Amino acid sequence: MNGDPTDRSEGNAGKVPPLPPLRDVIARHGLSANRALGQNFLFDLNLTGRIARAAAPLDAGTVIEIGPGPGGLTRALLDHGAGAVIVIERDRRFLPVLAEISAAYPGRLQVIEGDALKVDAAKLGSAPRRIVANLPYNVATPLLLGWLDAGTAFTSLTLMFQKEVAERLLARPKTKDYGRLTIAAQWRADVKRLFDIPPRAFTPPPKVTSTVVQLIPRAEPLFAADATMLERVTAAAFGQRRKMLRQSLRQVSPQADEVLVATGIAPTARGEELSIEQFCALARAFKAEGPTGPRAGL
Ligand code: SAM
Repeated sequence: MNGDPTDRSEGNAGKVPPLPPLRDVIARHGLSANRALGQNFLFDLNLTGRIARAAAPLDAGTVIEIGPGPGGLTRALLDHGAGAVIVIERDRRFLPVLAEISAAYPGRLQVIEGDALKVDAAKLGSAPRRIVANLPYNVATPLLLGWLDAGTAFTSLTLMFQKEVAERLLARPKTKDYGRLTIAAQWRADVKRLFDIPPRAFTPPPKVTSTVVQLIPRAEPLFAADATMLERVTAAAFGQRRKMLRQSLRQVSPQADEVLVATGIAPTARGEELSIEQFCALARAFKAEGPTGPRAGL
């Protein structure tokens, strides 16, 4: 008997006969959420199903899930036709539960115990690789930046972030959310907002709303630029948001003023006013200038 009539995970029993509702699984294994590992679990089958459908098609290649926890999203991915799922979970308390799911979907689920930050996901399974995750918030940004560095190794990234991080990924110039993360993401991927999930949908509820975002890595970055120089320029420009670029970009080069004029950008502008195209033009100009400036050796 199920003592919790609000547990919608039971509604899927017809599709996954061997697996009991997630709340029962958690209780049976005596599992509790560890906040230090960013654990907020999603039991609602409508929501896990919605995320799985957004990441479709799932049948070809490999679906890689980071932080499966008790496996709510994992079950939805398998239930929505994922042929091969590889999950990376750092908290070994979940391994027995994940082994049960693996047994219920023979040959379709591989579990890796470890820190996702240390795993090269681009080498897992076979292409097309799709990453799907309700990310641990404390490592969401470094994980995303690492995956974006891998270029087109991933066909899509369907990820849940804190809403405020999602706003930064999706931001437009001249807004408070526009910054380094926006440019790093939009330069290399097409970023789309899917839907919000309120805190009450999770166990335990986090303090903030979550947003599911989909990133499709571009075959080529939006505009030509050296990635390291672009990062240096945006770090300098947004590290001191209120300062004019001629001042903030002096960190990149003492010739910042001349480079701005040569690039057709007002030296009095601020970082948030520049488009990604303009940041790329600046990165190219600083790169061409060389490490010691154009007048070196004169
Ligand atoms: N996917 C589950 C769900 O939606 O209910 C759990 C999501 S919970 C927000 C994040 C999960 O990531 C937890 O299971 C946590 O143990 C795991 N995790 C945290 N840091 C990790 C890391 N560095 N590498 C792999 N997993 C990690």
